[in-house]
Amino acid sequence: MAEIAFRNVTKRYGDTIAVADASFTVEDNEFFCFFGPPLSGKSTILRLILGLETPDSGEILIDGRPVNRVPPAARNIAMVFQNLALFPHMSARDNIRFPLVERKAPPAQIERKLAEVAEKLHIGHILHKPPAQLSGGERQRVAIARALVRDPVAYLMDDPISALDARLREETRVELKRIQRELGKTLIYVTHDQEEAMSVADRMAILEGGAIRQVGTPLDIYDRPASVYIARLLGSPMMNILPTEASAGAMRVADGAIAISGLAADAEVIEIGLRPEDIKVAPWADGASGVPARVYEVEPLGGYTVVTVDAGAARVRALLRGQPDIRPEARVALSCEAARVHRFSRDGAALRPGGQG
Ligand code: ADP
Ligand code: MG
Repeated sequence: MAEIAFRNVTKRYGDTIAVADASFTVEDNEFFCFFGPPLSGKSTILRLILGLETPDSGEILIDGRPVNRVPPAARNIAMVFQNLALFPHMSARDNIRFPLVERKAPPAQIERKLAEVAEKLHIGHILHKPPAQLSGGERQRVAIARALVRDPVAYLMDDPISALDARLREETRVELKRIQRELGKTLIYVTHDQEEAMSVADRMAILEGGAIRQVGTPLDIYDRPASVYIARLLGSPMMNILPTEASAGAMRVADGAIAISGLAADAEVIEIGLRPEDIKVAPWADGASGVPARVYEVEPLGGYTVVTVDAGAARVRALLRGQPDIRPEARVALSCEAARVHRFSRDGAALRPGGQG
């Protein structure tokens, strides 16, 4: 078992702050994801946990025990690196067995573990091949298998499935989620793919420039992003961010192009955010509230449809269920429920209705 925590950890490389005053606690048995754009500090956090790097300040704790000075081998954490690092001259089987052979585990136990992970990852048929004869996806699964045969206190994975094609990524992330649940062990996972982060994580941390900006369950963060930056990172299509003005006791959104009844005026709010799935698109009719908007383009995706609409000075994207009969150039009315509106202040921080900040 392992609970892994940072207390005000900072790591610099020369003038670059790779990790800035980071504090978090990953609970035992949790599938915890670090999500952020490239260079936001994700890999450095994993290397710090593993012990390949030492913090400049702050403390790393495993099960409450400070480990800043504990060498990597004594931390007993398994890592799947971004570049996989398979041994090219060894078969997939020997690569996977390697950590156990190195530890002089009994041969029967090695074979049992090998068979077990090969089955979980569907790689039984490729075990005889060297890495050069495997596809990118197969190599990735071999690297994951090599981490899984060990019995570490926790697993770290650095963007482990980014090289796979989209379909295989969707499949593999489901398997990883199931495997983690079966193993019942802490898994700390790094990805730059928002959908992957949301799909696998029990909880996730959002990184920006080495700083942790928000920690929570994927749905908590999706529903209550702490800032415009975070709001834009999660969700596809991206959240619509629109300018607002307070006028005559009500809030005007995008020059009045979108009807949101009951949205209270608030001078602190300078932008609002609308999730595409929260926007209603109706045929324009006399007496409709708001001003007519014009459909710019329609993307029929089968199960749902993305409609891009020019509304006043703004261009918004709405996600509609099914295959609505909406065509480019059509006049439509846009509306949204006040309860679905995200409100942001001048510095980009989210404001909660009722002044809870
Ligand atoms: P991510 O994994 O999110 O892409 P990294 O943790 O690799 O981000 O990098 C965070 C920052 O630290 C980046 O600005 C990167 O250039 C810098 N950095 C990371 N490793 C090193 C290193 N070994 N030497 C110098 N700078 C580094
Ligand atoms: Mg990285």
